[in-house]
Formats: sequence, structure tokens, C-alpha cells
Amino acid sequence: MIPSTDKPRESRLDPAALADLVAKGKEASLAGKTADYIPALSRARSEAVGVSVCLADGSIIEAGDSRSPFTLQSVSKALALPYVLDTIGEDRVFARVGKEPTGDPFNSIIRLEASAFKKPFNPMINAGAIAISSLMPGRTGKEKAEGLYGFASRVLGLEAGKTAAMDKEVFASEAATANRNRFIAWFLKDLGIMEGEVEEGLDAYFRQCAMCVTAVDLSRLGSCLALDGLEPRSGRELMSRRAARVTKALMLSCGLYDGSGEFCVDAGIPAKSGVGGGIVAAARGRLGIGTYGPSLDLRGNSIAGSIVICALSEALDLFEL
Ligand code: GLU
Repeated sequence: MIPSTDKPRESRLDPAALADLVAKGKEASLAGKTADYIPALSRARSEAVGVSVCLADGSIIEAGDSRSPFTLQSVSKALALPYVLDTIGEDRVFARVGKEPTGDPFNSIIRLEASAFKKPFNPMINAGAIAISSLMPGRTGKEKAEGLYGFASRVLGLEAGKTAAMDKEVFASEAATANRNRFIAWFLKDLGIMEGEVEEGLDAYFRQCAMCVTAVDLSRLGSCLALDGLEPRSGRELMSRRAARVTKALMLSCGLYDGSGEFCVDAGIPAKSGVGGGIVAAARGRLGIGTYGPSLDLRGNSIAGSIVICALSEALDLFEL
């Protein structure tokens, strides 16, 4: 039977429907735990769950802890990539980082040496993201991060003149314990992939991971990606169409660590998770979703966020493939 061509079902979305999903996410979250390998992350409330949907006209529908701040962590990879693509160009970026999924955990180092492909597999794993941070304009980590924070304040839809805050405690906690990321960065330097001083590239990476956001902010980023780089409502270009598309393609294939394949099968839309508990997702031409739920599954993905996004994809027929 030919599938019906129902009109988009955004009209079914209301705060009460989202609140039901939040309740489901809360219950499921009991099975997970917050990240603790960065000590400051373990202080998050493991039962917190928030969701926000940003429609193409800029309107926001939200429920639960949608305004609670948390740090971006690996979700920042979906922000750093379009920023660097638009700043230094696609050729320079992909000369140093590949576009292939790995199926390995986010901080895996095994392929860097074992594979004949002597560059990080993609920008969504730590090795690729650290290389990307080193490519940001600026000499010091602080200068590099300032450019990214400026870009972020626009795509996260912050009020004019406002810049996202950095969680200094999380930043210091990560910088003090990041032995594995330091190892990755120095190995990348040896391969000729890090640009500039290793510690400055790492510093920029820690700063981007420690950016404070809310689920509402993430839904605006999702919506901008969904609209191929345009600001919801105003239609102003915040990133190029190409940068948005490249970023979404890599989110779809690599955005949820070694759970990316399963998530793609279940949700069918590009998304990026982080161990701070956030997930951003983008449904082409329709809407962006931001979720928060710091209780993580074994792969480091937010349990509540995954459940909520898969349920929304089903209810609103967001599946893109
Ligand atoms: N800052 C974290 C790290 O590199 C990000 C991890 C994540 O969210 O996946 O270890």
C-alpha cells in the first residue's frame, strides 16, 4: 500500500505530550548513571530530564528540565565542525580528518595507529574533534574558543549581546584528568595533524566541551541544522548550507558513539550526544530537538534523550531515510 502523505504532524505536539515523554525518560534513566570520568560531571542530578522542540518558525515547545544548564561535552563536535568548515574551508578540514564511522567508543585510540588511514576517522570522535579544535583560528586555546563561543551564541539563539558561559569547574576538572585526550593530541602531533601548539589545541577542546547550554538552546541549534544553516523564524544564514549538510551527514553516521547505527535505525534523523547528558537532533526542514538527561547508558548516550527522540520521530514521522 502506498503510504499516506499526511501533513506534518507538528500540531500533535504540546507540552503535555512532551511531559509524558519526560516521565518515560525519567523512569528509564534509573537504569543508567552519570559520567564520572570527568569528576565534576558526576554532580549532575541523575533524575533530571528535559526536552525542547524548536519549530521552523522559531516557536519552542518544552517540558521538564528544559532550562537546566549542563555542559555540551561531545555535542560541541556538532558546533565546532560547521564553525571550522565555514572558517577555514572543507578541503583543509578533511585533509586532516576523515568522514568514516568507526563503531568504536568516543575516546578510542586503537585505529589511530592500527589503521593504514593515518588520520582520525571522523570529526565526531575525540581524535577528530581535537584536531578540529586545533584548526580554529587563534593562537591560544582561549582565542580559538572565543571564536567558537561567538558562533555558538548565534546558532544557540542566545539573546543579542549574550555569550554562552563556560563552566569553569568542569573545564578545570577535565583539563586536570584528560590523560587519554592528551595522549591522542600528542599522537596526532606526531602524525602531523595537530595545528600549532598541542596544549593550545587541547585547551580549546576543553573549553568547547565546558560550554553551558540548556535543552532549549540545543533545540535551536537542531532547528538551524534542520533548516540547512538558517536561523529559525528570521531565515538569516547562520552557517553555510554545505557546512550544515556535511555536519548532519556525519551526525547521522557517527553522532552517537558506538551506538550510532542502532540510533539511526530507531530514530532515523541526525543527532549528536555528549556525556554531559545532552543530545541535539535535526529533522530536515521541520524542527530541531534538544534533550537533557545525564543518566547515561553503557555507550555514554543519554538514556532519556534517546527514548524521547526516538518517540518523537515515530509520533511526528520524522524518519528521513
Ligand atoms: N570532554 C569529553 C572528553 O573528551 C567529551 C566526551 C563526550 O561527551 O563524549 O572526554
